[in-house]
Amino acid sequence: MRVLPVKVFGDNYAYLLVDESRHTAAVVDPGDAAPVREWLARGGLRLTAILATHHHEDHVGGIGELCSVFPDVPVLGSAEDKGRIPHQTVFLDDGEGVEAAGMRGLVIATPGHTRGGLAYFFPAPLGGDLFAGDTLFGGTMGNLFEGTPARMLETLRRLRDLPPRTRLWPGHEYTESGVRDALRLQPDDAVLIARLAAVESALARDGRTIPLSLDEERRVNPFLRWDDPAIRALLGTASDTATFKKLCEVL
Ligand SMILES: [Zn+2]
Repeated sequence: MRVLPVKVFGDNYAYLLVDESRHTAAVVDPGDAAPVREWLARGGLRLTAILATHHHEDHVGGIGELCSVFPDVPVLGSAEDKGRIPHQTVFLDDGEGVEAAGMRGLVIATPGHTRGGLAYFFPAPLGGDLFAGDTLFGGTMGNLFEGTPARMLETLRRLRDLPPRTRLWPGHEYTESGVRDALRLQPDDAVLIARLAAVESALARDGRTIPLSLDEERRVNPFLRWDDPAIRALLGTASDTATFKKLCEVL
C-alpha cells in the first residue's frame, strides 16, 4: 500500500492510502480538508473512504468539507463515537474488517486516549501498516482523556503484539519530545541517545520521523516497556499494571 502523509495544522498527520491502479484514495483523520484536497488533486485521485481514529476535532475537522466535495463517501469510525464524528455512516467494532485503497484492514479498538478510539491495521507479508491515531506516538503515547492506565495498557499490549516489521503511522509528529521525555527517565541510555540523534537528523532532513518502526518503539518507547527489567528496577515496581501506572505518573 502506498501511504502519503499529509501535514495538517503543523504537527497533525492525515494519511492518504493510495490505490494507484484505480487512481483512488482513502484518507485517515482529515483534521483539515484543504491540504487533503490539495494532495488528492495533485495525484489526480478520487476520494473513496474517510477513516476516523477518534472524534477529536483536529482529526475530524475536515470531514464536512470533504463530504460536500465527494458526496456518498463513507465515513468510518467507532460505534462508540456515534454522534461525535461528523457525517459518520459506518459504525465499527473491534475485530471488524475494512476496505481501503484496495486493501483489507482490521479494526482494533484502542480505548484509553478516548473511549471510542480505533486503530486500523493493514497486514502485509512482512509486517503491515498501523494507523494508531493518538494512541501511540514516537517515544510516547496519547493523553488519557477518557481512559485509565489499566485500559491503555491493554490497548498498547495489543498494538505491541502486532508483527515487528509493522510501520507505525501516528496522529502527530511528537517523536522528538517523546524521546526527550524518555531520556528524562533514562538519561544515560545509549539506545535512547542514539535515537534522539537519529530523530533530530530526520527532522532536519525531512521535517518528519514517520513512518515509525513498531519494533524500534518496542525497544525505546517507555510506554511499551512495562515488562522491561531495567524500567522496573528504575521505578521499583514488580507487575505490568504497577509499572505502567507509575510510567503514567512520572512521564
Ligand atoms: Zn486526540
